[in-house]
Amino acid sequence: MTRVRLLVFNPALPVLDYRLPAGMAVEFGQLVMAPLGPRQVLGIVWEPERLGGDEVPESKLRPILEVLPVPPLSTPLRRLIEWCADYYVAPINAVARMALGSMAALRGGGTTTEYRLSGEEPKRLTPQRAAAMDALHGEQASIRELAEYAGVSEGVLRGMVGAGILEPVTVDLDRPYPQARPDFAQPKLSEAQQAAADRFVSAVKERKFVPFLLDGVTGSGKTECYFEAVAEAIREKRQVLVLLPEIALTENFLRRFEARFGVAPILWHSSLKQSERRRAWRAIVSGQAQVVVGARSALFMPYRQLGLIVVDEAHEVSFKQDDGVRYNARDVAVIRARFESIPVILASATPALESLQLAEAGVYTKIDLPDRFGGATLPDVSIVDLRKEAPERGRWLAPRLVEEMRERLARGEQSLLFLNRRGYAPLTLCRHCGYRFQCPNCSAWLVEHRLSRRLACHHCGHEVPPPEACPECQTPDCLVACGPGVERIADEVAEVLPDARVAVVTSDTLNSPEKISEFVAAAEEKLIDVIVGTQIVTKGYHFPELTLVGVVDADLGLEGGDLRAAERTYQQVAQVAGRAGRGEKPGEVLIQTRHPEAAVIAALAAGDRDAFYEAEAEARKDAFAPPFGRWAAIIVSSEDEAEARDAARAIGGTRPDLPDVMVLGPAPAPLSLLRGRYRYRLLINARRSAKLQDVIRAWLAPLQFAQGVRVSVDIDPYSFV
Ligand code: ADP
Ligand code: ZN
Repeated sequence: MTRVRLLVFNPALPVLDYRLPAGMAVEFGQLVMAPLGPRQVLGIVWEPERLGGDEVPESKLRPILEVLPVPPLSTPLRRLIEWCADYYVAPINAVARMALGSMAALRGGGTTTEYRLSGEEPKRLTPQRAAAMDALHGEQASIRELAEYAGVSEGVLRGMVGAGILEPVTVDLDRPYPQARPDFAQPKLSEAQQAAADRFVSAVKERKFVPFLLDGVTGSGKTECYFEAVAEAIREKRQVLVLLPEIALTENFLRRFEARFGVAPILWHSSLKQSERRRAWRAIVSGQAQVVVGARSALFMPYRQLGLIVVDEAHEVSFKQDDGVRYNARDVAVIRARFESIPVILASATPALESLQLAEAGVYTKIDLPDRFGGATLPDVSIVDLRKEAPERGRWLAPRLVEEMRERLARGEQSLLFLNRRGYAPLTLCRHCGYRFQCPNCSAWLVEHRLSRRLACHHCGHEVPPPEACPECQTPDCLVACGPGVERIADEVAEVLPDARVAVVTSDTLNSPEKISEFVAAAEEKLIDVIVGTQIVTKGYHFPELTLVGVVDADLGLEGGDLRAAERTYQQVAQVAGRAGRGEKPGEVLIQTRHPEAAVIAALAAGDRDAFYEAEAEARKDAFAPPFGRWAAIIVSSEDEAEARDAARAIGGTRPDLPDVMVLGPAPAPLSLLRGRYRYRLLINARRSAKLQDVIRAWLAPLQFAQGVRVSVDIDPYSFV
């Protein structure tokens, strides 16, 4: 090979040809540096025929400069990258970038320098230095990260290094991680658990592609079962990837993993600091990392010898990425397992309808755990019809729910109230003139957060302190809260049960591993009587003394007409209900609703999952919705409203005219303004016979748009805003 084709990370030029200088050898998948104009670019050596691109005459080729000191991306990974680019109609270099993780790590290992407080107590301190010293207690990171963390400039910190207040520490990026021990604390499995574990273990041993759907009720011990497969992979010296839907769940997972295997697994997520990122990436590439636990971005890492993938809480919508490459990590995990010829386990108590359908069709191997471990029973579920048992005026908890909570408190047991709304109230207005507080960048109301005293947009992060007077009519102290958020429910609990110790649990309050550990410890030591939380408390936690779950508003998720609203409501309520009665004491669940007759609520009350899935499958069949038909969305946005509208109309104007493809829209998106961009949407509904991606590619390719217009394609969309 003297001529090489590279995939490069330049949006306009994804594919470039180069010459291999004498004496340099490369393989496919190798990472190299190459000249581009006056600059150098990173590239991946790729099979030329798989990329397309123009043949450049030999004489014009410039030489590759350098081969980077990391192993090449494996063939299965390259095939995965191609598959994703094709399936999600995404630029292939945008997909490939997700495999690289840390640019700095490509330059090799060695050491890096971090800084920490030296313990030196300076005599005089500028206010900035004093603030930085407070903030940096116990921290160690690069100057840039510390500056960001402390909210001061890098210059201030450099000055502190000069003054000896901060000291340098050399960090070895290639120091090995401690090794997990597959037999450290092996539990005695129940018969059903053992049968499931045996299936997983033999698939790991045989090194073949088997997609498992582990369908087990909450508390059945799904984790213990797949841990056996993890143990087998470790014995075989192969790597394991465990995907969790959100970082908030990792803390709990880490503790269980450590109890089972003696050491913590390796974490991979977007908020790792630089040195951790480099160390983890290098251990993943070298094969030293045995078990990696991460959010969806861990899926594309270049594992050296992957032996197993687990997707826990596989039904969760957060596995779907909604910007950049809009992929679904659950689905891509299965594809990766296929390319790698390894088993993949999708674990859930409430699988997605799509997954159940694939199991029914024989594509997935379904493994059932129908009972809770250790004789614990599933909780009793009953309905509180809010039309008949109304809460008092200005309150949200029905008398029966409050009564049940009072009983739990008297018995020293715990209650959990679930409401999927952060903050105090979803809408704030002026009592005098009716002015509504709205985000300047988004078509969304500002949400009042009383604990942190701010009005915040949950879409773009814009926030302001609550004003003293109405910005419209200038009336002082005029704000009224409309509707409840978790903080308001917590206030209500404090009023009706003044002795109860209440904890509000949301992504605002549990925003660090330390806070999560504190919460878990407090709940386990029974320092909390009532937990009021968002979806963050619906999964993963196991509190034996928690015997009552109250769903404050089961109808909330059904509003707004999302095409998966019923399924999501079912999953959320079933998951949160699953937190009750996990120990020896039986659990009880009260669901507050105004629509007890809705199929999803009735199925929850009857504990009849099959009835729900059957009704839902029928409805989807009629609508040609997934898995019986397919959807895709085209989202058009621009900072200029007219520009966005014109682009959307141009797309709508050339819609394909095919019998198996139906195009709805363009229409302004429900979130018609997001982060300062105006948005339009088209929704495409296709029969399974249609070649949906090819249709979309052919449709969009000839169109030209104004500079500021962004057009993105969302295959199998989950978000319809
Ligand atoms: P799931 O994920 O299915 O809801 P978990 O894996 O969290 O269930 O298990 C529920 C609880 O039961 C956990 O505390 C777990 O440690 C315990 N458990 C499950 N199986 C066993 C077992 N074989 N031996 C001991 N404890 C178990
Ligand atoms: Zn906003």
